[in-house]
Amino acid sequence: MNAFFTTLFATVLVLHLALKLWLSGRQARHVARNAGAVPAQFAATIGLADHQRAARYTVAKQRLGAIQTVVGALVFVALTWGGCLQWLVGQLAPLAGHGLLFEVALVASVAIILSLVDLPLDWVRTFRLEQAFGFNRMTPAMFLADAGRTFLLGALIGLPVVAVVLALMRSAGPAWWLWAWAFWSAFSLALGVIYPWLIAPLFNRFTPLGEGPLRARIGDLLARTGFRSNGVYTMDGSRRSTHGNAYFTGLGAAKRIVFYDTLVARLGPDEIEAVLAHELGHFRLHHVTKRLVSGLAVTLAWLALLGWLQTQDWFAPSLGVVTAPGIPGNAVDLVLFALVVPLFAFVLAPLQSALSRRHEFEADAFAARHVSAQSLVQALVKLYQDNASTLTPDPLHSAFYDSHPPAAIRINRLLIHAPTGA
Ligand SMILES: [Zn+2]
Repeated sequence: MNAFFTTLFATVLVLHLALKLWLSGRQARHVARNAGAVPAQFAATIGLADHQRAARYTVAKQRLGAIQTVVGALVFVALTWGGCLQWLVGQLAPLAGHGLLFEVALVASVAIILSLVDLPLDWVRTFRLEQAFGFNRMTPAMFLADAGRTFLLGALIGLPVVAVVLALMRSAGPAWWLWAWAFWSAFSLALGVIYPWLIAPLFNRFTPLGEGPLRARIGDLLARTGFRSNGVYTMDGSRRSTHGNAYFTGLGAAKRIVFYDTLVARLGPDEIEAVLAHELGHFRLHHVTKRLVSGLAVTLAWLALLGWLQTQDWFAPSLGVVTAPGIPGNAVDLVLFALVVPLFAFVLAPLQSALSRRHEFEADAFAARHVSAQSLVQALVKLYQDNASTLTPDPLHSAFYDSHPPAAIRINRLLIHAPTGA
């Protein structure tokens, strides 16, 4: 039995690795092949030099992503069949006993190992890749301060959450996963409320948008769409990077729309109003709530699966971990499950991305009903140009990864709404 499941997990790992590298190779080749000429619909707005810079940036990102994928697979093998997790269990059990403390310590150790592996890759992304293309504004000191803050926050929030889940696994009976899901749902809702005003400000400064000449126009648009007027902010994204963006976040009274200061500096009043209308579309069409609800439904399915796997005596041994009698296996199961799920879940990525792209189309259509679609097109073109986003993504890579529709398709849809000759 163990040999069968070991073969199954190894096969899925290899297929997952091959699929990701294949998609990444496709994207790099497709973008490089189309680097010679700006697509016709952007020819008037984006120059060849910018187009080719975007192609080089996209290819470089794929290369780093491929390295990260391979490293991830190696870490998986090291932790499971390589014996690292087994070794950790052997080291921690004498120190922390056989109780909850041991289990929390095991999960925390794996989390620390995984973030220590990520850290150098993040460093390369920031100080090589982003730096080379002129996007990075971070100093090494800021990078390390961010990493420290993220680590502390992870410990402060993550450890209690892990402790509660492990305690439920210990003592809530065979239906522990239902209780864990109820707890997780409550936690997610609470996080949605506290994130915008307690956590995000630890990393950035937020100031209300709309002082000055923009104020009246924005106030009018907010009134028309029923959004509270003090919910729109700019964020000092320029401290870390020149990339520009805008997003919608938070739940309930904490919901807000955030513009990067880099974006505000770059766009004209009509364009800012158009981007705001798009974000208000996300709010009006309840996209955040829909995403949260579908996320919780998926979590329930995964937790139910973990609840079942836990009762199967082949699960941990087939992934290289055999716990001695008397040592609880919950933390081992939880860690192995967290490692294995992404391998299987990747085939669902196109579904999730398609849902996200549909929300983007809906928010665009909403914007086109309330402001000029032409202004939103202009804003998007500036965003593509400034962020060196590729205009010619590989369709299959896009289907798996892109939360936003490919540039050409998105603009074409918007232009349907725009009056001709404008
Ligand atoms: Zn959007």
